[in-house]
Order: sequence, then structure tokens, then C-alpha cells
Amino acid sequence: MEIKEINIHGYERVIHGVDDLSGLDCIIAVHNTKLGPALGGCRVWYYDNTADHLQDALRLGQAMTLKNSLAGLDSGGGKAVINIKGKKKTPEIFQKFGELVNHLDGTYITSEDVGVQPSDVDEMKKTTKHISSYNISSSLIDPGPATAYGVIQAMETAARFKFYPIKLLHPINVLTKSTVAIQGLGNVGFALMEMLHYKGVNIVVTDLNFALMEIAKNKFPNITVVKSDEIFDVECDIFAPCALGGILNPTTIKKLIKSTKIICGSANNQLENEYCDQLLHDEELLYCPDYLVNAGGVILTYKENSKVSTDFHVANFIDMISDRLEECLNISKNNDEPTGYVAEKMAMRRL
Ligand code: NAD
Repeated sequence: MEIKEINIHGYERVIHGVDDLSGLDCIIAVHNTKLGPALGGCRVWYYDNTADHLQDALRLGQAMTLKNSLAGLDSGGGKAVINIKGKKKTPEIFQKFGELVNHLDGTYITSEDVGVQPSDVDEMKKTTKHISSYNISSSLIDPGPATAYGVIQAMETAARFKFYPIKLLHPINVLTKSTVAIQGLGNVGFALMEMLHYKGVNIVVTDLNFALMEIAKNKFPNITVVKSDEIFDVECDIFAPCALGGILNPTTIKKLIKSTKIICGSANNQLENEYCDQLLHDEELLYCPDYLVNAGGVILTYKENSKVSTDFHVANFIDMISDRLEECLNISKNNDEPTGYVAEKMAMRRL
């Protein structure tokens, strides 16, 4: 395998591993290890060129630093991204990936992210120990519900903040009878849909994968299913992006201003750029910063690393998302600053 070091300002270490035999083409961005080894999943996705591939790894790695810091974890931030364009996922790719992780001597600890299944993690385990779930069966781990649970904590806080400014009048079941539009029915989106259903929420969903929408509709006949390009126009109280990043851009924001009041979902790197953070603030469309909201999965990963002991401890950590979001929204309101900007300042306190 050929491993190239890439010097990037602001990042501790970035490596690009290419192995012609297995087909591995992977960039690992270790952003910051001040709080501990960089903890962040491995993503498998399709990129047309190395520049796009690198940009995604860098953005995702930096977001993990902010997420882990804000979540109160003693973990740094980093991310691995495998470009699978024109190739098929094979066991050999993940075994070689494990070797690339070893090259970082434990400064980066991997886990699963978009495009990686428990069976892929089992292949990684054949060549590296630097995996959060190393000592547990990978099939027992699904961070999706933990992440969804955190998103719900955030949704409740955001709804109280937006719709009930007088604290004494806060209803108990603030989401009941509200409408939530979910983009993406994967590991997080599906669990989110299930949890919201039990809270009496009206749910609208979309996914590029029709089979998933069919499964959702069969399970909960009351939900509404729309085409993927229609989701931004669905009239709702909360729009929940649970697919991929970059979906908050000037074009979609223009639609969302008319259709919704709150944006709160699990997708990483939702904002196309900082300007969109400001735009959402100016338009009074309440944006719940993604890495603040979606920390449930990494908190579960923390447990896998034996840092906290039980699922109740995990839930206790996840519940704190609610307080952090409330603080972020209050600062944003009082200082007239965009929420994404405020969340970054909050995360930097520990760094
Ligand atoms: P996933 O791969 O299981 O699901 C993503 C789903 O989105 C897929 O079903 C896909 O078909 C769908 N999708 C993609 N583009 C779409 C589009 N344009 N319109 C509609 N649907 C689309 O991923 P996941 O694990 O559920 O994660 C979802 C997002 O949340 C990702 O951005 C991920 O990085 C982030 N996240 C996940 C976790 C976790 O615990 N899994 C934790 C933190 C953040």
C-alpha cells in the first residue's frame, strides 16, 4: 500500500492510503487529539476526484473534534473516508483499511459511518485493534437509535424555544401533534421515525431508496411518503435532515423558509458554508447545529471504549444535548449570532 502524508493547516495528520491490489483508496484526517485519541467513524462513499474526497474527510474530521468536545467526551476528532467509486466493497478493502489505521499508532480510533456495515467492521478487526467496538460483536452495535434519541432531545428543546418563549407555559409533550419531515430513512432516520411515531407526531418521510419507504409505510400506515425532491416543500414544524451533508444551501433554504420553522436532524455537515448559517439566522429559521444534535452515536461509541459503563450512562450523556442546545439557542438570541457559530464557540471552550 502506498501511504502519502498530506500537510493541511489546522490538522494534526492527514494520510492518503492507496492499495491497487485490494482497491482501497482512503483518506484519514486526524484533526485534533488534545482531548484524547481522535474518535470518528469510517465513511464509504463515491467521489469523482481526490479533491472532493479530501474535502469531505477534512470537514468530517473537524466536525468530530467539535462534536466530541461539545458532548463532553475525552476524545479528539478525526474521520476516515473510503472512495468506492467504480469499485465494489470487498472484505480485502476493509482489511487493508485496518492496516492504514494502524499506521496512525492509535491516534485515530475508527467505527462505522455511512456505507459501513457491521460485517465490514468485522473485516477491519482482522487487521487492527483501533476500533471502538473491538471487544464486542459488531452486529450488536447500532448507533442509529442512540443518535435518533439525541435528535429527539434536541427537537423538544428547539420546539419549546421556538413555539413557547415563556418557560412556564412549556407543554410536557411538546412534539405531540406537530409535523416532522424526515429526509433519509437509514439507520438514524428510520429509528427517528419510529420514536416520533410513539410520541404522536405527524410524520412525512422520503428516501432515495423506495424499498425503505415501503417498509416504513407498511409499519406505520399513517405516515406520508413523498418523493425526495419534494421534501423541502413539505409544510412542517421541523425538518429533519438525516441523509447526507451540504443540503442547507441558498436554494434549499429559500424553500425551507416557506415550509418549516426548525431544522433539526442527524446529517453531518448540513450547512454548505458559513454564509448559510448566517442566512438561516437572518431569516429566523431555527437551525440546530448538526454536531451538537447528532452526538448520540459517538456517545454510544464512547461506551464501547469502556469509558462509561451502561446504556443508562449513555442516555444520561445524551440527555445533556438538550441543555447544550438550550444554551446555544439562548446565546444566539441574546448576542444576535447564528447558532452554528455559537456552537463552534461552545465547542472551542474545551479545546
Ligand atoms: P444511512 O446510510 O444508514 O442512511 C442514509 C439514508 O439517506 C439512506 O437510506 C439513503 O438512501 C438516504 N438518502 C441519501 N441521499 C438522500 C436524498 N437526497 N434524499 C433522500 N434520502 C437520501 O446513514 P445513517 O447512519 O442513517 O446516517 C444519516 C446521517 O446522519 C449521515 O449524514 C451520518 O453521517 C449522520 N450521522 C449518523 C450517525 C449514526 O449514528 N449512524 C451519527 C451521527 C451522524
